Amino acid sequence: MKNKPGRSERIAKVRDYTERCKASGDKFRPMWCPHCRFELEAKVPDDDPYTSLATCPSCEGLFHYTSRLLNVTVTAPGLRNMTNIEVMRHLMEGPGDHPMQQVFIIHALINFCEGVAKAKPGFMEGNMVDEGLWRELAKKVGDTLNQYPMVKDRGYDDEEEQD
Ligand SMILES: [Zn+2]
Repeated sequence: MKNKPGRSERIAKVRDYTERCKASGDKFRPMWCPHCRFELEAKVPDDDPYTSLATCPSCEGLFHYTSRLLNVTVTAPGLRNMTNIEVMRHLMEGPGDHPMQQVFIIHALINFCEGVAKAKPGFMEGNMVDEGLWRELAKKVGDTLNQYPMVKDRGYDDEEEQD
């Protein structure tokens, strides 16, 4: 009886298949296993979206994915995507993250805010988001990151001021 393929063998098989499809002109975009976050690729459909059941070659977890022209969504029972707040916390507080990660994120935000402030009027033409609002947000977020607003220092008792 043939042994069950190991992890690296399963991954190689999937990569091989994907490469062959790409060679014949198929387009792919990244998706991530909802169980172990291993990066996989979903074929971009020619027109209609399609949903498929997939097995992750890394952890063998099962999930569904729907591939559309513009995006791919992944679902698995009992799992949901992080909210905006959760994903930001995850990026800022991840215990295994490199110490420079927070600096990287803050630097990226400051750069983006500066880019919006410097952009030529009308740069958001054809965009669904209002340019004025975008500029307002760039100013607010950029100012906050440049100021590091002060907050009440923990442990400091301001009872003295009440005397
Ligand atoms: Zn997985």
